[in-house]
Amino acid sequence: MHGLILFLLAASCASLGGDHPRSIALTFDDLPVAPHSLTFNEAKRTTDKLLAALKPAGSPAVAFVNESKLEVPGETDRRLSLLRAWVDGGHELGNHTYSHPDLNTTPLLNFQSDILRGERLTRPMMRSAGKQLRWFRHPFTHTGPTQQIKFNLELFLKRKGYRVAPFTIENSDWLFSKVWLDAVHRGDQETAARIKDAYLDFNDIMFGWFERLSVETFSRDIPQVLLLHANPLNAEVLPEMLARIRARGYRFVSLDEAMSDSVYETRDGYVGKEGPSYIHRWAVTRGLPNRLRDEPDPPAWVSQRSRAQDSTAAAR
Ligand SMILES: [Zn+2]
Repeated sequence: MHGLILFLLAASCASLGGDHPRSIALTFDDLPVAPHSLTFNEAKRTTDKLLAALKPAGSPAVAFVNESKLEVPGETDRRLSLLRAWVDGGHELGNHTYSHPDLNTTPLLNFQSDILRGERLTRPMMRSAGKQLRWFRHPFTHTGPTQQIKFNLELFLKRKGYRVAPFTIENSDWLFSKVWLDAVHRGDQETAARIKDAYLDFNDIMFGWFERLSVETFSRDIPQVLLLHANPLNAEVLPEMLARIRARGYRFVSLDEAMSDSVYETRDGYVGKEGPSYIHRWAVTRGLPNRLRDEPDPPAWVSQRSRAQDSTAAAR
């Protein structure tokens, strides 16, 4: 009798994905919101929707702040309250520098002072919630164009008590959000809906790509870390996106839990001007071919819209 029950239990566990269901940690960049040009009401709506969508995920996200974005005349306190909402929601803030400089073009000393300037408000805010500010993510995920810059910055971050937050999956959300927001502001609902669908489909494509790359690099599924931006498009689609991620067999975990897997002890052996997923970086470390060139691109019509938007803006 007991044997039969155990067998049935084992069979039902197997149908749910066995002992090792996939796991993923969620991270958000460019807080309080991207783009910086959003009105306070748009920023508030974006924050509220993101936080509401994250609640059922049941695990804390890490959200990376650019404090320069708080400095909107007459709105600093209100914009600061958006960060407080993330902390109150059980999430953790990280440092994404003060003004989002590019390490490829910024002298290291200036970059380092931008990091310190970027913790003036978030560090005390985390402390008041009984937590430490401990995560750092490089703007554009550019970790250093030369070995020397990369090494010296790593040393600086370690001395300041920061741990670099890697990411393994990204989906060009900033590009889709840029063209989606333009369509919404023009009242073009049809195009906005098309972009939204294309974004969710592209997210599926990127999950498939990075899952295959994980197996190619480590011969197994690995706990993933998703990089998203705190933007209005993600606020709009997050419930649907998280449902699709769940349907692939994932459960949501904290960044700490994802990074407790031994994969995250792999050295980041990539040096260069791009900011690729850590799976690419680890593949380089392990002497495997760099597959960055094979990575799927967003649909051409979306990129074309983005370029057209840039040239219209430049002509103004
Ligand atoms: Zn960023």
